[in-house]
Amino acid sequence: MKNLNFHPAGRHFLHIPGPSPVPDRLLRALSYPTIDHRGPEFALLARQVLSGIAQVFQTQHPVVIYPASGTGAWEAALVNVTNPGDEVLMYETGHFASLWSQLAARIGLKPEIVALPGNCSQTGFPNSWRRGVQADLIERRLREDSQHKIRAVCVVHNETSTGVTSDIASVRRAIDAAGHPALLLVDTISGLGSADYRHDEWGVDVSISGSQKGLMLPPGISFNALSERAIERSKLSTMPRSFWAWDEILQANQAGSWPYTPNTNMLYALVAAIDMLINEGLDSVFARHQRLATACRQAVHAWGLEVQCAEPSAYSPVLTGVVTPPDVDADGVRKIIYEHFNLSLGTGLGKLKGRMFRIGHLGECNDLSLLAALTGCEMGLRLAGVSLSGSGVSAAMTYLASTSSVQARYHAP
Ligand SMILES: *Cc1c(COP(=O)(O)O)cnc(C)c1O
Repeated sequence: MKNLNFHPAGRHFLHIPGPSPVPDRLLRALSYPTIDHRGPEFALLARQVLSGIAQVFQTQHPVVIYPASGTGAWEAALVNVTNPGDEVLMYETGHFASLWSQLAARIGLKPEIVALPGNCSQTGFPNSWRRGVQADLIERRLREDSQHKIRAVCVVHNETSTGVTSDIASVRRAIDAAGHPALLLVDTISGLGSADYRHDEWGVDVSISGSQKGLMLPPGISFNALSERAIERSKLSTMPRSFWAWDEILQANQAGSWPYTPNTNMLYALVAAIDMLINEGLDSVFARHQRLATACRQAVHAWGLEVQCAEPSAYSPVLTGVVTPPDVDADGVRKIIYEHFNLSLGTGLGKLKGRMFRIGHLGECNDLSLLAALTGCEMGLRLAGVSLSGSGVSAAMTYLASTSSVQARYHAP
């Protein structure tokens, strides 16, 4: 038998854009004893979790928590506000947006895809997979829909397959400008806790998120943040649903419980994760991500490679997509980096398979862990025979050193 317990010395560098590395404090919280989920102690935990997560979504409205991956929360958002056969307008920013529209079709909705037309002349990638949501295309389509058949507009905030972040407030403005009653559903599965996200201020009706990206938890829980209108719409929705139905959950939450067994240990870790984010300050968390993302892009530019996102105002603070030269298999490069340097990078998804890889710089990431990841990439690219125009690590070091400051630290009171 092969020894399956073997693993290389030192820590593994998990730089895929989710799951992201789980901080030690959260791993410890996961190990607390599982308690009675209908007892008084649990109700306290539930209240802490529900009010804390609302702060992270920047909302005054309820947030529903599911013991499911992000995909479950995608389905939940749709089934609570639609009727069978409804039309939904879904903007294609990349692979995740495309998966969400496939899910919509499978549950009996009629997704209509809206996307920027054409392909990029340099890379051949769809233009829509290199840029943020173009709100004017949504507005134009909604204006044509004079009978208001479209029930919801669905967009991905941070497209994890490409490293492009969209302007959600502009989508709300487009819906309002068209005078259309469609609800705004936003996937911020990889945005929440890393990129600025404002559920209430941006007028989002349902925000969808998950645990294993910016929240730094293991995979396993997901969220629907609601609006008044979404709750009202859900009361009229005729879509069959039970596990995902908001009404029973919202009612049970009032008493600090769930209609079924919640994943208690994940909730312990969630309270700790929220505490970490709120203590650092959401603005500082977002600024930290922006700075690391800038350093990463400087590295890619110094290598002479291209960033997948072609629109600087839409650069993702969460991850960077790196386009490899046409004759280089990006997955081959990833394999070398993994095997030689114990570093995991994200693969190119869907239409980008083999053409690019993704560097995650979200959650539990700092200057030195990013530099280590970039070093692994640089060595691996060279080993794969890619000719680089310069040292990306050196460029990132220069940027990080010049923008560094004394770091805030915890002091015992
Ligand atoms: C990770 C991710 C998903 C899928 O979530 P699962 O937890 O894998 O079900 C969906 N959308 C985006 C933008 C993601 O990053």
